[in-house]
Amino acid sequence: MSTKASGMLQGADASETVVDYLNRSDYDELIEIDLIHDRCHNIFHVEGKYFVPVLDGSFSGLQRYCLEHMVHPDDRKTCRELMQPETLLERLAQAKNPGVLQAQVRYKLLDGGWRWVEQVAVSGTLHGFGEGIVRVFLFDIQSQKDLQMGLAAAHPADRNCDETTGLLLKKPFFSACRELLRSQPGDWCLVSIDIEHFKLFNEWYGHESGDFLLAQIGSILKQEEIRSGGIAGYMGQDDFCMLEPYDEARIEKLYDEIHRLIMSRGTSMGFLPAVGISPVAKGDSIAAALDHASIAASQVKGDFHSRIRLYTPEMSNQAEREYGILSDFQRGLKNHELHFYLQPQCSVTTGLIVGAESLARWKTPDGKMVPPDKFVPVLEKYGFISDLDQYIWEGVCIWLHRWIRDGHTPVPISVNISQIDFLAIDVPEYLEQLIHKYELPREVLKIEITESAYVDDSARVREAIQRLRERGFLILMDDFGSGYSSLNMLRRINVDVIKLDAQFLRMSDLDERKGIHILETIVNMTKTMAVPVIVEGVESAEQVSFLEKLGCRYVQGYYYYKPLPVAEFEQLIVDPKNIDVSGFRFVTSQQFSVREFMDQNIYSDSMLNNILGAAAFLCWDGAENVDIVRFNEQFYRMIDISDLQKSATGIQRLIHPNDRQHMYDLLADAERDRLNGSSGVLGFYRADGTLEQFLVNLYFLEEGDGGKTYYGAMQDVTEITSLQNQMKLLSRFSSESIVFLRHYGDEWAYQVVVHGLRTVMGMSEAEFQRELNDGSFYQRMSDSDGEEMGEILVDAGVGASPGVSFLMRRDEGEPIRIYMKMDYVSDEYSNVEYILMFRLREDR
Ligand code: C2E
Ligand code: CA
Ligand code: CA
Repeated sequence: MSTKASGMLQGADASETVVDYLNRSDYDELIEIDLIHDRCHNIFHVEGKYFVPVLDGSFSGLQRYCLEHMVHPDDRKTCRELMQPETLLERLAQAKNPGVLQAQVRYKLLDGGWRWVEQVAVSGTLHGFGEGIVRVFLFDIQSQKDLQMGLAAAHPADRNCDETTGLLLKKPFFSACRELLRSQPGDWCLVSIDIEHFKLFNEWYGHESGDFLLAQIGSILKQEEIRSGGIAGYMGQDDFCMLEPYDEARIEKLYDEIHRLIMSRGTSMGFLPAVGISPVAKGDSIAAALDHASIAASQVKGDFHSRIRLYTPEMSNQAEREYGILSDFQRGLKNHELHFYLQPQCSVTTGLIVGAESLARWKTPDGKMVPPDKFVPVLEKYGFISDLDQYIWEGVCIWLHRWIRDGHTPVPISVNISQIDFLAIDVPEYLEQLIHKYELPREVLKIEITESAYVDDSARVREAIQRLRERGFLILMDDFGSGYSSLNMLRRINVDVIKLDAQFLRMSDLDERKGIHILETIVNMTKTMAVPVIVEGVESAEQVSFLEKLGCRYVQGYYYYKPLPVAEFEQLIVDPKNIDVSGFRFVTSQQFSVREFMDQNIYSDSMLNNILGAAAFLCWDGAENVDIVRFNEQFYRMIDISDLQKSATGIQRLIHPNDRQHMYDLLADAERDRLNGSSGVLGFYRADGTLEQFLVNLYFLEEGDGGKTYYGAMQDVTEITSLQNQMKLLSRFSSESIVFLRHYGDEWAYQVVVHGLRTVMGMSEAEFQRELNDGSFYQRMSDSDGEEMGEILVDAGVGASPGVSFLMRRDEGEPIRIYMKMDYVSDEYSNVEYILMFRLREDR
């Protein structure tokens, strides 16, 4: 393949001219299409390579045939979109590289395999070989793809190896292991490596990204093979394994390498490798050892701190117990052994029932009650929880339907949703269907989501919660304060009610004071956010009166009622005197005492960490140097710099050069406004060189010998700023120019994110942006247009921009008429306040 062709992999900014394309001879196929008459014919074709299409001379026939028989199923959409005949000519005319569009897809080979191909469509209208004619070239780019996937060393033709990863498949792996153990006795072990939630990775980032990741892991393991003399294998999906010298330090290194790879792709915490180790010797069953290693790996799941486990026989027992539970559960579900109890939620002041929570119960055929703590975590671990949950949710809906049909007043029932449910099914859609099927008013079904659901703060969970709220479901955040919650998360994810566990009140005498204060602080905090709280697990009269004094309104616990069988619950609420259907309400407190919040004597460090989110104390010498003096666990995790201790001085080096001045400004602003501090977005380099965007809130604390100290809270907003990148990507299809107007304190800055009008305006993105910012763009308008534009900007400030058109002078050629519209958006994370859209106005 020529070097010219390898340049094409950066399709978007293909610098090749069309003439280059037409003159090249390294294509495999060249087909000419006549779009106006729906005809096509083959000009050139390499014999014996690709699966041959059956041609009837019509383009639509060819296209149908290709999509059905020749293009890889995963690439059909791409191919269809590229060749869409109705819009093809128009898209070609507007293409960034005028008259040329391309896409990368896999075509079927004669021998049944697949080959990566760059499919390029060139417009005859624009390039002089006929109106309505399009030529389509296929270039073989498999070798570049291989290189890109780090597969250069793989043996694609080797039937023993997996194509994507280049590693040995199961059978050959097993026999290679046996052979190695026979020929080189010693301390060996089998290592099982899988990627937690890999299925989800595919869903989020697409199969192509998933395959790419697998290929890269494959090449890491191949290198390890060479270093260690071991053998690597691939068991399908995300299951990798290795026969390695039994050396834990070596395996830890391997883990680190894979971990770094995954993190370098900017992916979330949720996709960590899980590693299990099982020693193995000559004559042992490789299959059994691998089983053991993967059992050990499965123990890691859900634990974010220690990700490598050595197999012990107890693990097998546990795994067996868990498999036992799983198979019993399948039977139980079929035989209706599962049902739910209802535990009332009460108003503290009146004791009246305001709602209830459904809690799963399992009664086995021998009459034993299995508590949810025994099976819910197992179902979650193996991904079966949504079977239980769907069953319970529907059960609750059926009951509510009957209750209402019989003329009773219902109380709202909350159902439990596990975070795994969001990964397994479309929860909002499912609940919506239930509501319709059982003709329920939406207010009667509340949703309890355990706060761990927000752990990796995945876009998917957030999006689902948002959709649930839009549909009018009430969302309760369960077990707040027990694990991972932070103020930041609460601010970002809207919930309607917070549930707190009274575990803090049940602490031993010694810790009780601490517990009480923790609870107090959380309740105060929730009040400032105007979110009502239900305290759960309340067992005694003292607790109740304490909570009442604290201003808690709602409680759920044995002191009032245990979880009740449905029939008993019915007897309670059938009497309207026992229920209060006014819904949850909140009172806001006047004052939120930060001092109390920060009191070191009261707080447990981990609690403080959880509530504050990522935070650090900074010291600024007033000139260049900014040091991190102290930081918490969350901060450490977020920054993800392994030797933060060492690099804590001079952190300005880690800030993107363009943002450094901004950082100093923020520090100065924070000193000026001690009450409100300052905030802004800064680009921050992690150890692996990836750039993350952090929203930083700074508060000035004091000035000492070493400089000024600040308290800084940080939030990762990379996802939001990456929106900007997505817009850039979209610009390939846009003929408009989109400009963000951001503000930093008193300053305003225009940023051109999409510049579809580049050619018509005759200005580059940078020039356009500079002119907007220094005001010289106005000089391109007539005086009256300039004035009108000024008015529009003022109008947009109050939310009403009708749009305006103006005549724009160009450096060359006739002036053009541009239509501009401005919208107020105000995104507090990115500081974007307005979006401006510029479009060419056709009706001059
Ligand atoms: P949870 O959602 O936090 O439910 C509250 C748990 O506290 C229940 O335990 C309840 O019986 C218990 N509880 C209530 N009042 C008191 C009290 O005064 N003192 C004490 N010590 N405990 C009290 P349960 O029913 O054993 O459920 C345990 C957990 O299992 C639940 O915690 C929930 O996370 C999970 N779970 C239960 N049912 C379901 C379900 O249908 N789906 C899902 N996904 N999870 C469920
Ligand atoms: Ca719950
Ligand atoms: Ca709870």
